[in-house]
Amino acid sequence: MDNNPAPDASPAAVRLTDVRRLHRDAAGRDVAALAGVGLAVRAGTFVAVMGPSGSGKSTLLHCAAGLDRPTSGSVEVGGTELTGLSERRLTLLRRDRIGFVFQAFNLLPSLTAAQNVALPLRLAGRKPSRTEVRDALARVGLADRFRHRPGELSGGQQQRVALARALVSRPAVLFGDEPTGALDTGTSRQVLHLLRGLVDREGQTTVMVTHDPVAASYADRVVFLVDGLVASELRSPGAAGVAERMAVLESTMSRASGAGVNA
Ligand code: ADP
Ligand code: MG
Repeated sequence: MDNNPAPDASPAAVRLTDVRRLHRDAAGRDVAALAGVGLAVRAGTFVAVMGPSGSGKSTLLHCAAGLDRPTSGSVEVGGTELTGLSERRLTLLRRDRIGFVFQAFNLLPSLTAAQNVALPLRLAGRKPSRTEVRDALARVGLADRFRHRPGELSGGQQQRVALARALVSRPAVLFGDEPTGALDTGTSRQVLHLLRGLVDREGQTTVMVTHDPVAASYADRVVFLVDGLVASELRSPGAAGVAERMAVLESTMSRASGAGVNA
């Protein structure tokens, strides 16, 4: 135990330190999807990750969520260091401590909403209680869609079922990779409002990759990635400020990649 913690230090729910992730390209060269990135996400906050295409956003999220392993560096979630864990321990940690939603909702079409939500608990060898599943669906405003199958639900409702499924284990961190990317504007706003509410009411730590400056404006903080590193960030972001910052980063990138093409 640290007997002398910094007075304002609320714990980081996620901490990446000097994380590199190399991929081998078709020509056999190593490409750094992440080039030594550092990021700490305070518990109970909502962080959006933005950046040009190929800047490493998905890789960052996957490394932070234990879906991918860094080539080097450290990843901590809820105080547990992920990098040394065996596959089995990592699987358990993902199951118990991490929630993940994707752009595609990835629900099983033959199962009802309740059965989809219960699935992670069943896979963990538990028999989920009705209350637990109902609570999860109620938290996303779908208590009345218990028995509906995905095909009987709108896109927004399907994403909310996927959210309930990610939240049913009460994860330390909820990750979303473009969770509103497949939704129309209005539905997307509803899902973002819901995510914001989970952070405000329940202290649900949330990290979301997005392309959409309006989506990012729901977060407490926006982190901008360029070439696998945090290039800048904004706190209490407004959509206009985020769009402006993105435009600057994109223009820097296109100049850089233009030079690359000609090289
Ligand atoms: P983003 O989500 O910001 O678009 P990614 O994290 O998907 O970026 O990718 C970052 C970089 O790493 C890109 O240059 C991409 O081509 C490369 N990359 C990602 N995954 C792989 C992979 N499995 N094999 C080779 N290169 C990859
Ligand atoms: Mg991506």
